[in-house]
Amino acid sequence: RPLVGVGGPERVDAPAPPDAAPTEPAVLCDREGRITRVNDAFLALASRPPAGPGQTSPAAGWRAAPGGLDRVPLRELVHGPDPDARLVRPDGSLVAVRLVRRIACAGELCLVLPQRGQLDLPSAAPVGTWTFDLAAAALRRDAALEELYRAVGVPTGQGPTAVEAQQVAALSQALRAQARPAEHRMELAVAGSQALDYATYVEYADDGTAHRLVGTVRLVAAAPRRPRPQNRVRQPAGPTRRFTDQAAQRFADLMAAVPGGVGLLDRAGRVIDANAGLCELLDVRLEMLRGRTAASLTADGFTGQDPEPDTGADGLPGWLRRAATSPDHPYRADAVPLLRIDGTTVWCELAVTATPADDGSPLWLVVFTDVTERRRAAELLRSAGIVDELTRLPNRAATIELVDRLLAGPGRDRVAVVCGDLDDFSRVNSSLGHEAGDDLLVTLAGRLQRELPVGCTAARLSGDEFMVICADHSEVGGPDILARTVADLLRPTITVHGRPVQMTASVGVAQPVPAGEVRAADLLRFAEVAMQDVKRRQRRGGIGMATDGVVSSATKALELEAELRSTIAGGGLTLLYQPVVGPDGTVLSAEALVRWPHPERGMISPGEFLPVAQRSGLLRDLDMWVLRTAAEEAATWPMARGIRPAVAVNLAGLLPGDTDFLDVVTGIVDDSGLPWDRLVLELVETSLVALPPHALAAMDTLVKRGVRFAVDDFGTGYSSLARLKELPAQTIKIDRAFVTGVGEDRADFAVARAVVDMAAAMNRTTVAEGVETGEQFLVLRRLGVDAFQGYFFAKPLTPDELHAKLRTSEVVAPAAGL
Ligand code: C2E
Ligand code: CA
Ligand code: CA
Repeated sequence: RPLVGVGGPERVDAPAPPDAAPTEPAVLCDREGRITRVNDAFLALASRPPAGPGQTSPAAGWRAAPGGLDRVPLRELVHGPDPDARLVRPDGSLVAVRLVRRIACAGELCLVLPQRGQLDLPSAAPVGTWTFDLAAAALRRDAALEELYRAVGVPTGQGPTAVEAQQVAALSQALRAQARPAEHRMELAVAGSQALDYATYVEYADDGTAHRLVGTVRLVAAAPRRPRPQNRVRQPAGPTRRFTDQAAQRFADLMAAVPGGVGLLDRAGRVIDANAGLCELLDVRLEMLRGRTAASLTADGFTGQDPEPDTGADGLPGWLRRAATSPDHPYRADAVPLLRIDGTTVWCELAVTATPADDGSPLWLVVFTDVTERRRAAELLRSAGIVDELTRLPNRAATIELVDRLLAGPGRDRVAVVCGDLDDFSRVNSSLGHEAGDDLLVTLAGRLQRELPVGCTAARLSGDEFMVICADHSEVGGPDILARTVADLLRPTITVHGRPVQMTASVGVAQPVPAGEVRAADLLRFAEVAMQDVKRRQRRGGIGMATDGVVSSATKALELEAELRSTIAGGGLTLLYQPVVGPDGTVLSAEALVRWPHPERGMISPGEFLPVAQRSGLLRDLDMWVLRTAAEEAATWPMARGIRPAVAVNLAGLLPGDTDFLDVVTGIVDDSGLPWDRLVLELVETSLVALPPHALAAMDTLVKRGVRFAVDDFGTGYSSLARLKELPAQTIKIDRAFVTGVGEDRADFAVARAVVDMAAAMNRTTVAEGVETGEQFLVLRRLGVDAFQGYFFAKPLTPDELHAKLRTSEVVAPAAGL
């Protein structure tokens, strides 16, 4: 059974026969909630004409519902929750009422109790109504209309001479010609530069047939140079035409075309005209809106930005009073609560401009933008305490929640997220200081909040990374335009040392894939990936789309990263050991080389996954695992030719500059039982230059215990012989690049010889890497290289293979006899 409104109805369950009608305004409804009987108090409250004498019901005090109310669902007349509902009068004014329901025989008895002291919105202009029953061809005017006609001297005759006959004829004709004409408008000039404004619409029965015409007539001030009375039938949702000259016509067309609400208000704050958007926003027909005052449209308790009461002496609400009287001073009112006809509130952002009327008196032109959703989202975020402290924008957690909600809704496919990241933001911080950087972020946040299209929410995810969430990208011109908008908003010009600097942002856009499930976190990541991708490829200010390719390669990298993380943590990596031999083939040490045995991809080489480890900050964990494992395994190695080989471990993430370097290495090596003098730590040159004193001290401590440091890949990168002297390392590993050509390339030979000579002069030992041929070995040995590593002697070996070789002392320099 349909209930009216949404509030909890008050019910008394005992059946109450509708004997005497209550003295309070009341109606009786049938089981479908449609009005069947009314009492006089209700008719008075609803300002409906009483029905004719023959229609009085047998039950005392009840009347059959008059024409306009009979079988009309009560919910069409009374909107909103029962405890706080609004009764709509024929002229569009509202009465705040409280509904009390009782079960009555064959239906419900509803008391419609006016709420005293509450909103009772008078209509601004004298108004009357008439109806024309199409079947009976009967015209009926209400008392107010009769009185209005008498006051302005319009004849009150019936029949074809009646003033309303014109509209009846026009609408009847329109009804024959088209499916559902919406409304007919007419103005009739009357004495005293006034006019009667007629608005007439067709009322349809449930089966869709037109059953009567309902007209409201309002006395309005006739503007100077008022055009001749218009007489035309408006198409549904068509533009309102009240102007004749072309400029006015263009203006009217513009108003109709504007997606938001636009209203034109006179100097007293009364609505003169409004577009379809505003009618829709306030859920009210145009003729009901006309003549309403701005104050009556404003929800209770709104004080505007001025510390003044709701309405001033001039009766204008706060949001209108500040209007300057010249078009040069337009202003915005951020969030103004306006009343819908059903009593609910719609929050609007207003842009107000003063514009002169034809007679020079000021008019207000107000653009209304519905920001209810935006406000609700913002409130939700605020209340949950998930805003970014600096900018007050939603943070990542809030953004994910919001996007998840959007993705769960019906508009899922029209959701778009845009990630914008400033280019070179760190330069702002470093050249102007962090405060200036913070200021810039706050400024940009405000700009996004103010200037993003309605339906978009700005968030700050981290540092200089903003995210814009758009509930419906079709409303803002599609994802590309949205991305462009965000990029433009994130292009501030700042002043650095007195000079303007144009900043840019790289932007990435992502949308949910049409098929398949996407969660908010994924969508944000796709946008971030697209942004990073464009940042990599383009210099600055680029826009990237999260295409399948971009997303899938990023997804693969991420999957790999997650897998690597768990593989390192779970000890799923393995080590191979490549022997390093002396000139006579004795194994002096073995270098630990990491491998990732992947369940699907097979053995992955470090060249492939070390970059992943580096990007995801896993290098240090990896190094620690390798150091621990290699030290433990090396502690078990047997002697070979009277020597127990050392183990060489590559370090790339665990570095001497780390404050805990000494502690970490000490802990691991102590636990493994490996003697200190059997450990070599290999670092690339860049990790060894310009070390701070504490790093050098840590290395010194380790060296005193017997540890040796080796410069890996020497000769590549920025190596210079001159710098060799400064490197705190005992061993130099000559890169394979110079070893390869040492036999035939004079330059390679020269480099190798210079390194060996220099190292010898500085009391450092040399290791040649990647020795693949006997010739290379011989040349290098003749140069005085101390040790050799390469396929010529042995490939990287499994621990078992290494054990076997060491036991049998099988690793022999084939040229040992040379
Ligand atoms: P690296 O430190 O220069 O290691 C030597 C690389 O050269 C190894 O490749 C080794 O297999 C390869 N190699 C040895 N002899 C020959 C030869 O005669 N010819 C050729 N063409 N190559 C030879 P791998 O194992 O693929 O390692 C590559 C790089 O990955 C290493 O270069 C090192 O920088 C890094 N790496 C390997 N294991 C680890 C580790 O456990 N931790 C860290 N941080 N880095 C590692
Ligand atoms: Ca190495
Ligand atoms: Ca190397």
